[in-house]
Amino acid sequence: MTVSDNRLQKAISVLKESGVRITPQRHADLDYLLTSETHPTADEIYKSLESQFPNMSVATVYNNLRAFKELGLVRELTYGDNSSRFDCNMTEHYHILCLECGKIVDFHYPSLEEVESLAEQVTGFEVSHHRMELYGKCADCQEPMLRKQA
Ligand SMILES: [Zn+2]
Ligand SMILES: [Zn+2]
Repeated sequence: MTVSDNRLQKAISVLKESGVRITPQRHADLDYLLTSETHPTADEIYKSLESQFPNMSVATVYNNLRAFKELGLVRELTYGDNSSRFDCNMTEHYHILCLECGKIVDFHYPSLEEVESLAEQVTGFEVSHHRMELYGKCADCQEPMLRKQA
């Protein structure tokens, strides 16, 4: 069993326990999310699955994603543009975004808890969370000349 199969089984049992019916579409949506590491939008998921599910609409995909989100299976990411992206990596991580092609890659770094406690001390706030994004040009979008020799 691969890692994503394992995660898929877990996600499916969460759906079962909460009484959400596992339709073939929901199954496919979940599978797509778990195997893609691209943080897809509802539209991207719809486009890649529409040939398998001719009756599916973007709205259905979106509703499924919302249901997954309520159960804690995915996170919804917003980056200023009007299409939300969905991330099924629920472990703590940050994102690095390519300004050229819009690719989002997971970036692991210990959570910046020191920043939160410092901010609390300085401002008197009770900090609930923070977000940090890094921006730049991905390896594919860099000029070949400037790319480091392998
Ligand atoms: Zn890029
Ligand atoms: Zn992510």
